[in-house]
Amino acid sequence: MNRFEDKVIIITGGGSGLGRAAAKQIASEGAKLVLVDLNMAGLEETKQVILDEFPQVTVELVEANVAKEDDVKNYVQFTKDTFGQIDGFFNNAGVEGKQNLTEDYGIEEFQKVVDINLNGVFYGMKHVLKIMKEQGFGSVVNTASVGGIRGVGNQSGYAASKHGVVGLTKNSGIEYGQFGVSIKAIAPGAIMTAMVEGSLRQIGGDNWEDAGKEFVKANPMLRFGKPEEVGYLVAFLLSHQADFINATVIPIDGGQSYKY
Ligand code: NAD
Repeated sequence: MNRFEDKVIIITGGGSGLGRAAAKQIASEGAKLVLVDLNMAGLEETKQVILDEFPQVTVELVEANVAKEDDVKNYVQFTKDTFGQIDGFFNNAGVEGKQNLTEDYGIEEFQKVVDINLNGVFYGMKHVLKIMKEQGFGSVVNTASVGGIRGVGNQSGYAASKHGVVGLTKNSGIEYGQFGVSIKAIAPGAIMTAMVEGSLRQIGGDNWEDAGKEFVKANPMLRFGKPEEVGYLVAFLLSHQADFINATVIPIDGGQSYKY
């Protein structure tokens, strides 16, 4: 497939995990990519992984903190100035935060997680949607989580921010559908990335792999998801094949969401 020939796609959190997996899939179909992350070393690694396999692909890297509106403005403007258009936006950067009971959840921690996961997604939409509306086309995929459609426990900041991402997606999808722009969210279950390893380490310490085996027993498929499985979904959702999917949330969790 060549769904992204001459298409310009921005991916935040492109230096690791789901962002990298989506970048690889989309690059394999000919896109011009702008990868955004706080972690420049991670971005360089993603670029190398892509160019090793697809040397003809254009990959630009922008170091940015998505929690700072000026940084967001900058990566959006950079994309517009460099390529003249934005076809797709994977608004994905996020953090889990420290796990704790609500009463013990630090105020600063709460603010940090919400700043990145929710405000960062809002800033991205605010600046990208203005351009997509003017163009009359575009697709946005926001990364929510199963923690954005149900309670998980011990994750006040994460739950609040990811439920907020779902709300933003539904709200803005209604506003921008008339301009030829679709907005959707994905709700991944546990996908084996650095973030999930970190989460399991919070639960199981050095025995985090055993904690992982215990964790997946609750999943009908008895395993973690793979980043590339999310990459395939995101590529579909950012492509024209998914233009009529709008203002909604797509779970990718092995069926874990049967419980809610
Ligand atoms: P990851 O830790 O592998 O990647 C996250 C990336 O985001 C990192 O490269 C990190 O540097 C970047 N990032 C963090 N804060 C940033 C900031 N302020 N500005 C710019 N970049 C920043 O994790 P992942 O699993 O790939 O997570 C990606 C997204 O998927 C997150 O929003 C996460 O909440 C969501 N998610 C992941 C899972 C999972 O199981 N892995 C499940 C549900 C949702």
